[in-house]
Amino acid sequence: MPDPDEKPGFSTETTDGWIGALLDVASHRAPIIADAASAAVGRLYEVSPDHNALIGEADTVSRFLYATGFSGHGFLQGPTVGEIMRDLVLKHPPVVDVTR
Ligand SMILES: Cc1cc2nc3c(=O)[nH]c(=O)nc-3n(C[C@H](O)[C@H](O)[C@H](O)COP(=O)(O)OP(=O)(O)OC[C@H]3O[C@@H](n4cnc5c(N)ncnc54)[C@H](O)[C@@H]3O)c2cc1C
Repeated sequence: MPDPDEKPGFSTETTDGWIGALLDVASHRAPIIADAASAAVGRLYEVSPDHNALIGEADTVSRFLYATGFSGHGFLQGPTVGEIMRDLVLKHPPVVDVTR
């Protein structure tokens, strides 16, 4: 759960206010997490302009395939992105249209 008040940047500081907000959500969704949480670390992820990943094959460099810019939700998209990349490697139409 990212901090909605966090400004774009490279800070890895954590704040007590955010941890309190996180534990509020956790206590509703997964109380065991709220009980277990005792420490926090701040880490960074890249964010694309529309918060969606960039997936495809470069126009100018032969066979340069990319899947990046997941904007904090690349883990949950991993299984489908793997299938898309498989199709791009094999030069098959991807299971999901990524032309946009
Ligand atoms: C703090 C944080 C919270 C997140 N929360 C979520 C979440 O709740 N849900 C969600 O779906 N996603 C979340 N994400 C995003 C998700 O973790 C990423 O989108 C996903 O891990 C990207 O997978 P990837 O395989 O593309 O890249 P990565 O997981 O970054 O893997 C790239 C790998 O390549 C290696 N590498 C880099 N350069 C080289 C090189 N030159 N030679 C050899 N190896 C190299 C790196 O060491 C790394 O192991 C979060 C990310 C962060 C940072």
